[in-house]
Parts: sequence; C-alpha cells; structure tokens
Amino acid sequence: MIPFLDLKAQYRAIAPELEDAVLSVMRSCNYILGEPVEKFEANFAQYCGTSSAVAVNTGTSALHMALLAAGVGPGDEVITTPTTFVATTAAIRYTGATPVFVDIDPVTWCIDPTLIPDAITDRTKVILPVHLHGRLADMAAILKIARDYDLLVIEDAAQAHGSERDGLRAGAFGDIGCFSFYPGKNLGACGEGGAVVTSNPVFADNLRCLRDWGQRGRHNHVMEGYNTRMDALQGAVLDVKLRHLEDWTERRRAVANAYHAGLSSEIERAAGPFGRDHVGHVYAIRSTDPVGLSTQLNQAGVPTNVHYPMPVHLQPAHADLGYERGRLPVAEAYAASTLSLPIHPDMSAGDIDFVIDAVNRLVTLPSRLTA
Ligand SMILES: *Cc1c(COP(=O)(O)O)cnc(C)c1O
Repeated sequence: MIPFLDLKAQYRAIAPELEDAVLSVMRSCNYILGEPVEKFEANFAQYCGTSSAVAVNTGTSALHMALLAAGVGPGDEVITTPTTFVATTAAIRYTGATPVFVDIDPVTWCIDPTLIPDAITDRTKVILPVHLHGRLADMAAILKIARDYDLLVIEDAAQAHGSERDGLRAGAFGDIGCFSFYPGKNLGACGEGGAVVTSNPVFADNLRCLRDWGQRGRHNHVMEGYNTRMDALQGAVLDVKLRHLEDWTERRRAVANAYHAGLSSEIERAAGPFGRDHVGHVYAIRSTDPVGLSTQLNQAGVPTNVHYPMPVHLQPAHADLGYERGRLPVAEAYAASTLSLPIHPDMSAGDIDFVIDAVNRLVTLPSRLTA
C-alpha cells in the first residue's frame, strides 16, 4: 500500500536540522513559549503577510482564542460552513455563540457567499469561512459582505498555509486568521500546534493575553484567560519546517495537477488545475458510491480518506441547533459523494501513476460511473 501521507519521508529529508533544533531546546530547559516560539511567530507572520502571529497549542485553540479576542460570546451568531472539520463549529460553541450554517459553493466546496446575506441577523458578529482542502474561499465577495454589514471576518486557514490570491495569503484577508499545525497539515508540528495571525494590534494583544492566563505582565490577570500556549519544542520544529513549506507546497500542487490531468474525464474531481490559491492539502474526487470505490481502491493498494463524510450541521453533537437533512443540499451531496486520494510532497511519479491507473480502471466499471 502506498502511504496516504508520508511523515517518515519528510522526517528523513530534514532530520539533521530538526534534531539540532530539538536538542537545543532540550538543553535550554525552557520548554514553554520563549525564544524558539518568538522566532517562529516572527517568521510565520512574515510568511502570511500579517504584522503578528500568536502561537498556541492547537488549531482548535487558535479558532477559540481568535473568536474570544474579537469579542464573540453568548448571544452572538457566527456564520460558517457545514463542510469542515468539527473543530470550527466546536470553537464557536466554546465561546457561547451560535454557529449559523450557510451552504457551500458546488465548485469550490467553500462557503457560498451569495447565500450569506440571507443568514445575517442583528446578532451576527463574524463570518468564518474555511479554506477547504487548501483552496481559498471567495474572499473578495466575503469581505465585501462583511464591509456592507459591518461584520468581522475570521478565516479558518487550518488546511491552507500559504494559499494566495491577489498578493495576499490565507489568514491575511480577514481580521484574524487561524492555523493548525497538527502533524498531517501542510505545515505540521511533531505534536499539536496552532497559530493566530492578525494585523490588528488590539486583537494581537488580546490573543497574547488570552493564551497565557489572561496575564498582561506577570500576576496581572486582566481577563479570564486560558492555558493555550505553544511548547518551545514545537516552535523550534515549526521554524525549521517553515523553511521548506514553499517547496513542499509546489510538490503537493504538482501531485494535484498530475491527478487533474491524468484522471479519466468521467471522474468528477476538485476544480483544477490548481494554481496559487490552492495548496493541495486534500485532493478529492466524487463517486455515486464513495464507500464501494474506496474499498476497491484500498484492495488495489490505494489508501483513501473522506474529508468529511457527515456535514457538521447533521452531527448528533449539534442536533440542538435544529438543522434537518435537506436544509443545506450542496453540503449534504458533497458529503455523500466525496473521497480523497493520497497527496503529500514526497509522492513519487510512480506512486502518482499507480493511483491514477487504479482510479481510472475502477471507475470505468459500469457500477462505478459518476454522473
Ligand atoms: C485540523 C483542523 C482544525 C483543528 O486543528 P487542530 O490543530 O487539530 O485542533 C480546524 N479546522 C480545520 C478546517 C481543520 O482542518
């Protein structure tokens, strides 16, 4: 079986740099925040094109702290997409605010901006788009709505490190951008990690305060804070990996574009070819029988994954929000039909061809035809 994601190959390629960085933290005996994290924050802010980056312990905390820093709380509504990892919605709910789901665009699979105005009420405070699979949402349209209705925009860029349009990168379009460094993300820690980027100095100050027990100076707790700080080890690891991110992204895009060109025209797949606004975190195809196709692909030696088989609005955890099946048809059709192929920077040309051949062979079987 070829790997779905090859963290071992990534580690082998940069082991000396990574091990030096980790050893130096071990020997410093300073394990939380500190110089390695500050260095990474400065470099990551520069990479994203924002004036600040605030490193935290997970992508989920990045979203949670971002919403709190923006003043979101009970009684507020946050407009978001149902086609995402549950963390997006969970973070909104941690603040006491209510997620309001808007259906997705059938081509980009990101939130459909034309449907946002109808979802706005006098409680709406934030629009929270997710750059699904590494593709930027339609930020021009989203920012225009936010300006018209005086709303904040918080980007969930957990899958989209470096995705770029009109000279701006993911996380820098809205008021605040949130990243995850879960090991499987395009930029991954050796453990958990996350960051919040912003060019708003008030939000940046709130974020630094919130992640460290609400302290502004030692023992001066000015707000109800949290412990969501980044470990020094993760800061050191991420600073090393950040130097390789552009190269890895180019190689991910090359895999995606090889799939786009090589898959049979009968197969519905992610809109392509992939340009600067897609960093190839996930490569998805569609089938009328995704479970059957996935089983057959696995038997043929091709691992698959599903991102995500059930839209968030239909998850039992959110039943209290009252969304019934049929309410968000594009997201529901996406969830019922989509599966993801292996994609990572260390895929060989042979592995890519192997995947393309297997998919083309299996979907041309009559029962696997996708309309
Ligand atoms: C991974 C992910 C998160 C959560 O990040 P963690 O670091 O796992 O907490 C949030 N949103 C999206 C879209 C993600 O893919």
